[in-house]
Amino acid sequence: MKVRIRRWPRLLVILALLLITAFFTTLQYIEYEYANLQAEHYGHTQLFPMPQRVPLDYVMTGRDFIAGTSASERTDAWEFYHYNAARSDVIGALRALPDTRDVSCTARPYHFTVQHARVSIVIAFHNEARSALLRTILTLYHRTQRRHLHELILIDDYSDDGDLLPDMLNLKIPPFLRNFSSTSPTPMTLTKSSSSYFTSNSQAAPPTNTFSAPTEVTIKTARNTRRSGVIASRNRGARLATGDYLLFLDSHCEVNVGWLEPLLERLAIGEMAGAAGGVAGGAPIAVSPVLDSINAESLEYAASSKNLMGGFDWNLHFHWIPRPQSTQQSQQQEQQQQQEHYQAEAQESLASLNAKTAYLQQFGWERKRFSEARIHRDTNTAATAFKSPTIAGGIFMISRHWFHKLNGFNPFLETWGGEAIEFSIKLWLCGGQIEIVPCSRVGHIFRKEHPFHFPNGTDSQTTYLRNSKIIAESWLDAYKYFFYASKPAARDIPINNTHTQRSHQLKSALNCRPFSWYLQHVFPQLKYVRQSVHSDYLSMSCLCGCVCVCPCVLPNDDFIAFGTLSSGELCLHITNPQAVIERQLRMTSCFQNDITHWYLHRENAQLQASSGACLSVVTEMPTSATKLRNSTRSTHLRVVLQPCVVSADEHSQRPRSGNVGAARKRALSQRWLRRGGWLVHQQTQLCLDNPLSDVVVVSHCRNAAPSQLFRFAMELQRL
Ligand code: UDP
Ligand code: MN
Repeated sequence: MKVRIRRWPRLLVILALLLITAFFTTLQYIEYEYANLQAEHYGHTQLFPMPQRVPLDYVMTGRDFIAGTSASERTDAWEFYHYNAARSDVIGALRALPDTRDVSCTARPYHFTVQHARVSIVIAFHNEARSALLRTILTLYHRTQRRHLHELILIDDYSDDGDLLPDMLNLKIPPFLRNFSSTSPTPMTLTKSSSSYFTSNSQAAPPTNTFSAPTEVTIKTARNTRRSGVIASRNRGARLATGDYLLFLDSHCEVNVGWLEPLLERLAIGEMAGAAGGVAGGAPIAVSPVLDSINAESLEYAASSKNLMGGFDWNLHFHWIPRPQSTQQSQQQEQQQQQEHYQAEAQESLASLNAKTAYLQQFGWERKRFSEARIHRDTNTAATAFKSPTIAGGIFMISRHWFHKLNGFNPFLETWGGEAIEFSIKLWLCGGQIEIVPCSRVGHIFRKEHPFHFPNGTDSQTTYLRNSKIIAESWLDAYKYFFYASKPAARDIPINNTHTQRSHQLKSALNCRPFSWYLQHVFPQLKYVRQSVHSDYLSMSCLCGCVCVCPCVLPNDDFIAFGTLSSGELCLHITNPQAVIERQLRMTSCFQNDITHWYLHRENAQLQASSGACLSVVTEMPTSATKLRNSTRSTHLRVVLQPCVVSADEHSQRPRSGNVGAARKRALSQRWLRRGGWLVHQQTQLCLDNPLSDVVVVSHCRNAAPSQLFRFAMELQRL
C-alpha cells in the first residue's frame, strides 16, 4: 500500500510532462496552420513565403523521404521530370499558397454541398519527383474536409523508382502514419490509415468547415507490373474506388484552400436537377476546378484566368479557349467594371497555358474574334460555374456511378492522350455536361513536353494519332472527315471494329446524340477553326459551319457537303426505311437523336443517307385523282430513296448490257447539284422543296423561295 502511495507523485510528474509535450506539439501545429490560413485567406493573389513553423516531423520525414530519390534521377533531373525537381525538393512537403479565388467565392457559404459525399481521389503517376507527389497528397490531406476525403488511390504506373510507394507508406506523418507492414505494394495493397494527430487539423481546415470529422483516410495503392499509361492506370484506380465521387488528379498538383466544396455543390445541384428529371443516379455532370499554374521552373504558384474553358481543334489536340459571352444581361454591368482586369489576366494565362503548342499562332485562331473581343464581352460573374466543351486538363470530378456507366476512359486509348477529350465528348453526347467551377482552385505544374517515353517502341505522336483516330471513328460521325483532312496520316493507322464497337454500343444503349448536336450546342467555336493543313496539301483548309461560306475548300474530301440537311427549323430524315415509300422521307425536328446525315458526293453527285440509300426522283404514272388535281402535268415526280447505283460509267462498260439502260437511267435520277442554297436535281432541273410541313418534293426553282433553301451542317464549298 505504502509503495503504491509513493509511486503516485512519479506518475503525476510523467503525466504532467506528457501533457506539456502534447500541449506544445499542438501549439506548434496550430501556429503553423494559423500562419498558413492567414496567408491563404488574406493573401489575395500574392505569393506568400513558407510559414516559419512547419511541424518538425514534417520537415524531417519529408526530407528523408525526398533524399531517397535515386542518384540517376538526381543527375539529370530536368530531363527526367521536365520541371525543377531540385526547387520542388527545397519547398518540401507543404507550403502556403495564395488564395486565388475571387472574393465572391470566399464570402459565400456552400449550402448545397452533398453532406455525406465521399470522394475517392485517384492519382496515377509515372516517374514523379518524390517531393511533388508528397506535396500533392499532403495538400489534399490538409485542405480537404475529412468527412469528404473517403480514400486516396495511388497507382504507380511502373515508375523507375519502385521504392517510392513503400517508402511513402512508411512515413511517420499523417495520412501515412499507421501500423503498416512494410511489404511491397505490388500488385495492390489496401491499407487503412488512422491517426489522432490530425484531430486538430479538422478545425484548421478550410474556413467553411463546421464539422466534427472522423480521422481516418483510406489509402489504396497499386503498382502496375508493366507500364500501362495514364488511361489504363486511372481506370484501374477507378475500379478500386468505393466513394460516391471520383476525382482524377495529376501527381504534381497542390489543391488550394476550400477547393472541394464548390465542386461538390455543383454536383449536388446537378443531382437534384437529375432527380427532378427522373435520371437515376443523378445527372452525369463532370466538374473541373480552375487549374492554377505552378511554374515548371520556379515552382511559383499563380492564379489562372477564370475565363478559360477546355476545347480542342480538328487534330483533336486539347486547347484552352476563352469562355464565350454569357447571355445573362444582368451581369453585364458588373463585368464591364472588371473587364480590363480580366482581359489582362486572361491574356496572360492564355499565353502561358498555350505555350505548349503556341496554339493561337499555329492554328490561326482569329484572336480578334475569340480572344480579346470575347473576353471584353464576357458577362459571367467570377463565382459562376460555366459550361465547358471539355474538362480542364485531365482533372475533374464525377459520380462514380456515371463514370462506370460511361465505360470509364476508353480502354483502347493507349498510354497518354485524348482520353479527356473522348470522355468529354461522350459525356456531353450521352446526356451529361461539363462545368468549370472558378471558386475551386487546384495548382498544377504545366510542363512543355512529356518527360516520359512511350512504350512498345512507339512515340507520342503516333500514339496520339492512333488515340485520336479511335475517338474520331467512335464519336465524330461524318465530321471525322475533318479530322482526316487535318491529319491525313491517321488514315494509314490500323484500327479495327473492336476499337470502336464499345463506343457505338454505348451510343445506342444510352441513346446518345450525334456529334452535330455537340457542334451546334456545346462547341460551336470548333466550326470556325481555321488551320493550316498537312504539308502534303498546298491549299488552305477551312472548316465551316452551316451559315458560313467557306473561302476555301477542304482538301482531299469526297464530299461537297455533309451532315444534317435542314430547311428552316426542320431536317430531312428517313423515318423508317421499311415503311412504304411515301412515308420514308419526312422533314422533322433537327434535334431528333438519330437524325439522318446526308453526304453529297463530289464525284458522282449522289446524295447519300447515312443508312446507305440515295435520294432520287422518279416519275410515276399519276392516279386519276392527281390527274384531276394537276391536269396541266401528265406525269407526277416523286422524291424517293433508292439503292445507290454504283456508277453509271461502270455500268456502261459492262458487256452484258441487259440492265445497263435501266441502271444508267437510275444513276442519272440520283444526281444532285449544289447551287447556292438550292439542291437541284440534275436531270429534271427541279429544286428540292419543302412546301408543306413535313413533305419533301421537287418543284421549279424559284428565286428567294425559303422552302427551297437547304443547308448541310457542313458545307465544304462556296455556296
Ligand atoms: N502518367 C502515368 N503514366 C504515363 C504517363 C503519365 O501515370 O504513362 C501520369 C503522370 O505522372 C501524371 C498524369 O498521368 O500524374 C498526367 O500526365 P502529365 O502530367 O504528363 O500530363 P499533362 O499534365 O501534361 O496533361
Ligand atoms: Mn500534369
